[in-house]
Amino acid sequence: MKYEAVIGLEVHAQLLTGSKLFCGCSTRFGSEPNTQVCHICLGMPGVLPVLNKKAVKFAVKMSLAVHCRINPRSIFARKNYFYPDLPKGYQVSQYTEPLSEHGHLEIDIDGGRKRIGITRIHMEEDAGKLLHGEGIEDSNFSFVDLNRTGVPLIEIVSEPDMRTSDEAVAYLKALRDILVYLEICDGNMEEGSFRCDANVSIRPMGADKLGTKAELKNMNSFKYIKEAIDYEIQRQIDLVESGGNVVQETRLFDSSKGVTAPMRSKEEAHDYRYFPEPDLLPLNVGAELVEEARSTLPELPEAKRQRFIIDYSIPAYDAGVLTATKELADYYEEVVKATGEPKVSSNWVMGELLRLLKEDGKNVGDCAVKPASIAELIGMIKKGAISGKMAKEVFGEMYRTGNPPAGIVKARGMTQISDESELAGIIDKVIESNPESVDRYRAGNVQLFGFFVGETMKATKGQANPQAVNKILKEKLGG
Ligand code: ADP
Ligand code: MG
Ligand code: ZN
Repeated sequence: MKYEAVIGLEVHAQLLTGSKLFCGCSTRFGSEPNTQVCHICLGMPGVLPVLNKKAVKFAVKMSLAVHCRINPRSIFARKNYFYPDLPKGYQVSQYTEPLSEHGHLEIDIDGGRKRIGITRIHMEEDAGKLLHGEGIEDSNFSFVDLNRTGVPLIEIVSEPDMRTSDEAVAYLKALRDILVYLEICDGNMEEGSFRCDANVSIRPMGADKLGTKAELKNMNSFKYIKEAIDYEIQRQIDLVESGGNVVQETRLFDSSKGVTAPMRSKEEAHDYRYFPEPDLLPLNVGAELVEEARSTLPELPEAKRQRFIIDYSIPAYDAGVLTATKELADYYEEVVKATGEPKVSSNWVMGELLRLLKEDGKNVGDCAVKPASIAELIGMIKKGAISGKMAKEVFGEMYRTGNPPAGIVKARGMTQISDESELAGIIDKVIESNPESVDRYRAGNVQLFGFFVGETMKATKGQANPQAVNKILKEKLGG
């Protein structure tokens, strides 16, 4: 039997507000444990939460960017459970009436486009963090850091529209790009600002009914997400093929072994006893706030990609690479402004620059090469002052030092000889000192042309402009 996998994703994104969702505590990452807490986020009895307006604006922006309908009224609810990282004994989230619903996102897959439905986006507060064992003096103890309690999150729930791990990763990358473009989330997966739970099931190819799903947790990179989903699909197929049944459960991915293992089953699943948060009014998002958010939406990755293809006449492939981050797209546009040549600029940015950055594990923001320097370099090649090969060498030094190309070329004595009268003089000498070869060439041994080019290059220590050398040699040798 052939099987098809079905995948739905739940993404938690941390919003880039300075303060928490219901109090004024800082959200800064990496501070001393338990230094960014107050009576509100610690959940002392009788305190009153106050909703962070900026967090609402950010959540509305994201909702609009993925075409969700904003509910004019949404409700905060308490999700009750006990855990040491949750001093209040409940997490404030949205349940029956979320902030927004019915959106979608398009992904590029297998040379085509596919639309993935977004069920809902709701707002909630994060819990604290438990620190176990490693890196702690006494590994018999666990410690709790409550700096993260109350930090604002949005949860973005997809429809079960994905069929492969590649589609899941494409969706996640597109989602993350949008969050980063909107400047409402830093997208940092290692620090947990962008986290994903994957729901995976299988069904016989062609079946309508969904199979029983397992939920995968604990994946903090695209690579692990892909590995975990692929492992889980195969595990479920093997299980069903050998006569077993998939049970609904939560599984953890172990990246060192590349496997998923059960964490808790449906029977042990929490009953959260959701009820409306009595200390917060329903959230009314008016048309004014929505319009304000809409008016501040920047150009999103997809729109930018299309504009690059049309305005700059560059291939779709180039446009995709160059709009991968807003930073890179902005840099490329600066280069185009300086050079006036979109395709040549794309070749340098996509080729040499990204190659060097990748080698160093750096981003374009760390790059010392000024757009004006790239323009200068391209100008030098066009004038024939340096060859394309020399330019790559020069670019390497521009990258390392941040210096403009003219100085580098001069210091290295790299100038190319393009002056035709100067080259003609050199070529005359080459011809004079090889009379025998000249005779053979003129008698029809045209392969010898390469020999004369080589001699001229030798005489100029490789600095002669090859096009000019070809042209002059042809004239002088006659043919
Ligand atoms: P739960 O109540 O268990 O959290 P939801 O219905 O809220 O389940 O769905 C959570 C996520 O799981 C959504 O992203 C949804 O698309 C996905 N999902 C639901 N059913 C399936 C299924 N049978 N296979 C794969 N994913 C699924
Ligand atoms: Mg759910
Ligand atoms: Zn606080």
